[in-house]
Amino acid sequence: MAAVQIRGVEKYFGATHVIRGVNIDIEDGQFAVLVGPSGCGKSTLLRMIAGLEEIGGGEIIIGGRVVNKMMPKERDIAMVFQNYALYPHMTVRNNLAFSLMLAKQSRAMADERVMKAADILGLVDLLDRFPRQLSGGQRQRVAMGRAIVRDPQVFLFDEPLSNLDAQLRVQMRTEIKELHQRLETTSIYVTHDQIEAMTMADKIVVMRDGIVEQTGSPLELYDRPANRFVAGFIGSPA
Ligand code: ADP
Ligand code: MG
Repeated sequence: MAAVQIRGVEKYFGATHVIRGVNIDIEDGQFAVLVGPSGCGKSTLLRMIAGLEEIGGGEIIIGGRVVNKMMPKERDIAMVFQNYALYPHMTVRNNLAFSLMLAKQSRAMADERVMKAADILGLVDLLDRFPRQLSGGQRQRVAMGRAIVRDPQVFLFDEPLSNLDAQLRVQMRTEIKELHQRLETTSIYVTHDQIEAMTMADKIVVMRDGIVEQTGSPLELYDRPANRFVAGFIGSPA
């Protein structure tokens, strides 16, 4: 059974139909990348998976449970955003611990999870710093740490690297992929960058105007694009 199943999902904003009957299966352990031009509905779809946006039709199933009516915290997911708003007045340690404290975890359990996440992400020496004392890459790692501490089944990423410079972006792609493999999670990663999609994905989902144009491995999409739009977007020879 797929870890995440998206079945005939719809979304309207007022009269505008922005997600139009989307079906996607994401297997356990897969790194799936949703790619498509700006405005095609990637963030809206991801936010519906996360529970941050109401589902306008169809079903979203995570780990075998229909989550349509569940709150974000009940869904066994964690999301990493582009604007990884860290709490500026809190140390790295407390930024990492905050959601656990909100979830009424004991301080001892929170400390243990924070140390584990800090170790995985190379943040151990930075735990007493404040966000303003960190580089862009370090802040991005703290943002990922905040997702990791919750030990979710599914990671959701919405263009997490788009604020970073080109060199750091390439490095962080590798780090995110390694993290995904090490934690054995399922990941759904949104980007408008086809190079990011081609280098990171096990499975690529190409979207346009609220529909899925094609789904497949990077090689399948490159070799056998379903249409000119996919070919153009992926950069296959015409
Ligand atoms: P992407 O992430 O692919 O750039 P979005 O999911 O952000 O696209 O947006 C998809 C479409 O839905 C766009 O046309 C956008 O303007 C519209 N949209 C997104 N959020 C809202 C909202 N809260 N209210 C009205 N329209 C929205
Ligand atoms: Mg977006």
